[in-house]
Amino acid sequence: AYDVLIVGGGPAGAAAAIYAARKGIRTGVAAERFGGQVLDTMGIENFISVKETDGPKLAAALEQHVKQYEVDVMNLQRAVSLVPASTPGGLIEVKLENGASLRSKTVILSTGARWRQMNVPGEAEYRNKGVAYCPHCDGPLFKGKRVAVIGGGNSGVEAAIDLAGIVRHVTLIEFDSKLRADAVLQKKLFSLSNVTVIVSALSTEVHGDGQKVSGLSYKDRTNDTMHRVELEGIFVQIGLLPNSDWLKGTVELSPRGEVIIDDRGQTSVPGVFAAGDVTTVPYKQIIIAMGAGSTAALSAFDHLIRTSTL
Ligand code: FAD
Repeated sequence: AYDVLIVGGGPAGAAAAIYAARKGIRTGVAAERFGGQVLDTMGIENFISVKETDGPKLAAALEQHVKQYEVDVMNLQRAVSLVPASTPGGLIEVKLENGASLRSKTVILSTGARWRQMNVPGEAEYRNKGVAYCPHCDGPLFKGKRVAVIGGGNSGVEAAIDLAGIVRHVTLIEFDSKLRADAVLQKKLFSLSNVTVIVSALSTEVHGDGQKVSGLSYKDRTNDTMHRVELEGIFVQIGLLPNSDWLKGTVELSPRGEVIIDDRGQTSVPGVFAAGDVTTVPYKQIIIAMGAGSTAALSAFDHLIRTSTL
C-alpha cells in the first residue's frame, strides 16, 4: 500500500508527487495521460520564470522531474471509483478501469478538467490556430486583432471584457435570447465601445485559410438566417467540465461537479485531498494547479504524521 496515491498526472499531480516523495514516503501516481491538459497546449508564456515554453516540452519536464524521485508512475491508468477507508486511519481504495485496485493511506485527486467544445466543423482543425479556450493564456496573442467569444455566461462575459482591453474588436455570441452573466458584468460589457453582442445565435462553423482562423459562421435562431463574421480568433467559453464523474456519491462536489476543498486541499472524505482544475479553486492555471498540488501533498503528509505510523 502507498502512503500517498495521486490520481491524475497533470501539473497538480506532478507537483503533489514531488512534494510527497521528498518526504520519503511511499508515493504513487496513476494517470490516464501523464502531462494532462499541458499536452494539448502550444505556447505557454505565463509559467513564471520561464519566458516561453510549449506544452509537450513542459509535460516532458514534469515527467523527468517526477522520475528523479522514487515515485511509482502508472501511466495510462484510468480510475473508476474511490472507496473511503472503512475505519478511521484505514486504507483508501482506488479502483482502476483494468480491474486492478490500489490502496493507500491518503489519496490526492488531481484529475483536472476539460473545456466543453462547440462541436462544429473547423473547431478541432483550428484548435491552437485561432480557436482558444483560455483568455488568461492566449489573450495577448490576439493583440490588435478581431476575436469572438462564444458564450454569454459569467466566464464568457468576463473573457469578452478582458479581451476588449487587448484586442481590436470582440464579438460575443450567445445561444440564448439573453446573456446569463451577472448584471454587474453585463453593465461593464455594454459600456465597452469595441464589443458587439449577438444573442439567439448558434455557432455553426469555424472558417480558416488552412493555416489559421479567418471567420465564424452562425445562425440567427430568430429567423434561421446564416451570418459570417471575419476574425482571427475564437474563444470558446461554454463551460469547463471537471473530470469528477467517477467521484459522484463519494466525495462532496459543487453544483458544477468540482471537488469541494478547504484551504489545505482537504475534501469531505478523511485522508482524501484534491488539487488543481478538478477542484473549486477559483482560477484554472498551470502555476495555480502546481501550488495546489504542493499544498495537497503537504496536507496529506500532515495527516499521515497525525494518524498513522509512517
Ligand atoms: P490536468 O492538466 O487536466 O491533468 C489531469 C490529469 O488527470 C491528466 O493526467 C489526466 O489524464 C488525468 N485523469 C483524468 N481523469 C482521470 C481518471 N479517471 N483516472 C486517472 N487519471 C485521470 N494554463 C496556463 O497556466 N497557461 C497556459 O498557457 C495554458 N494554456 C492552455 C491551453 C489549452 C489548450 C488548455 C486546454 C489549457 C491551458 N491552460 C493553461 C490550463 C492548464 O493546462 C490547466 O490549468 C492545468 O493543466 C491544470 O492542471 P491539473 O493537474 O489540475 O489537471
